Amino acid sequence: MPLEFLKRKGSQDAPAETVPTPAAAPTSGLAMPEEVVAQEYQLKLYYAGKSSEGVRMKTGPNALAELPGMLVGLALTEVEVVEPLPIEFSQATPAISRPSEAMQWLNAHHIHSPITRHALVVLESIDAVDLAFDTFVCTMLDGEVDTSGYPEYNAIVGGVAAHWDEATGDLICRAVVGWGGKGVRGDTDRIGSKLLAAILSNILASRFATGLTAIERPVPAAGRGGLVCAHCGFASAHERAFYCPKCGMRLLRG
Ligand SMILES: [Zn+2]
Repeated sequence: MPLEFLKRKGSQDAPAETVPTPAAAPTSGLAMPEEVVAQEYQLKLYYAGKSSEGVRMKTGPNALAELPGMLVGLALTEVEVVEPLPIEFSQATPAISRPSEAMQWLNAHHIHSPITRHALVVLESIDAVDLAFDTFVCTMLDGEVDTSGYPEYNAIVGGVAAHWDEATGDLICRAVVGWGGKGVRGDTDRIGSKLLAAILSNILASRFATGLTAIERPVPAAGRGGLVCAHCGFASAHERAFYCPKCGMRLLRG
């Protein structure tokens, strides 16, 4: 269900209204005060998060289906699965002052719960998850929601992010947590670290896990070029890419 609220009738072709240039303002003769009294306004937004090392998983058709189970015992709310974005949403960004990017983001994510949307705003803003290739399973891990169902600034959200290793085709899973908003509390970082460790422990307990691995983040090829996946359209800039980080299929070299 695409939201088309930005298409305002006639706003595209309407000529810019002409504003008459004001004539030189008449001088009133009032004296400028010695000190200008200013009202100050500010908003401090604080977003933070943590991401663990990667855990390499034996590839298999069930590997992705295992992800929600890794949050058993930790999830305070329903676990939602956010799949990597289709190519037509490749510009999606949670930034309301960029209408085209914001529209893509809303079209992609308005179906999710307030908790998952909050998690995506925080974790995408700090670059802890990248839905160009990450599959993200998400839940509330600590804290409370407000009366509208959105997590409070000190609530911790997160879960497991996974992408396919471009060189081997293994699934690489990592624990990701985040929090933030209009406020900071001293103990949130410590609770976040404990939750990150708990999720990592659950990932390592999976029967598909084969060990810890450093994360080589896939690099999407900006614009055209790179190696384009014939299955999902993802363009990789990685020279050693043999598998698509987004869908795990073998890349065909021309
Ligand atoms: Zn692909």
